[in-house]
Amino acid sequence: HVVSDEYKLVSKKWKAKPTSIDLGDGIEIKDGDMAIISGPCSIESEEQIQRVIAHLKENKVSMMRGGVFKPRSSPYAFRGLGMDGLKLWYKHAKAAGIKIVTEVMQVSQIEEMHDYVDIFQVGARNTQNFNLLDELGKIDKAVLIKRGISGTIEELLQSAEYVFSGGNEKLILCERGIRTYERASRNTLDLNAVPILKSKSHLPVVVDPSHGIGIRDFVPQMALAGVMAGADGIIYESHEHPDKAYSDGQQTLNFTQSSDLIGYIRKIFEMR
Ligand code: PEP
Ligand code: MN
Repeated sequence: HVVSDEYKLVSKKWKAKPTSIDLGDGIEIKDGDMAIISGPCSIESEEQIQRVIAHLKENKVSMMRGGVFKPRSSPYAFRGLGMDGLKLWYKHAKAAGIKIVTEVMQVSQIEEMHDYVDIFQVGARNTQNFNLLDELGKIDKAVLIKRGISGTIEELLQSAEYVFSGGNEKLILCERGIRTYERASRNTLDLNAVPILKSKSHLPVVVDPSHGIGIRDFVPQMALAGVMAGADGIIYESHEHPDKAYSDGQQTLNFTQSSDLIGYIRKIFEMR
């Protein structure tokens, strides 16, 4: 049966006040603020972790993204360093005061990952993994849900509803592009989703221009368009040597591009 917006827990009709995600140490994701989350598609090595953290610190960015469990189209592609990589990352991130955003792919990983993660990312391929969402509803950690590969805005909100109705209200919605007939870009970043999600829901909304367009040189423009569309944060991929990245190098910014983008995001946000 259809539940009207009024009764949906993620709906603005249910809760008018915007939800803030407090990660501790003064780090928040919230309405009226601009969260910047950056890092490689895949965590690759200790040295890479340290380089990215240094880059983020230099730019006063305090949230790092990276995958240790990677959903890859081919089973032969690099699938991540798993828990060893996460523990290594945690050691350096903790020392640097950086928060960890990383994808959880299945229910059995939640418990082992739990203490090392600040924000559990639900990837586009898992947006409608309702068992995973149910379990994430039972924990006291923030969850960032990406829009499904061909998911509608309504389906994203329903997925968030799964987590929220389980008792976990620390939710962030992410527009990362959808699959359309257009093949000139990897996905079609649907910036329409930002004002629509913000008007329908009290949850913070972030934009992922990296997966959204999939073309490195065009990521900054789309990030800034996301800021102007009203996003509460931008999550994008960065790496010291994108061409050597184990995954998604084609859409990953190098550190110079990344530093420039951070400056522009902050400038544009101030003017918003
Ligand atoms: C990622 O963030 O690297 C990723 C796999 O994203 P998505 O689930 O949006 O494809
Ligand atoms: Mn990626």
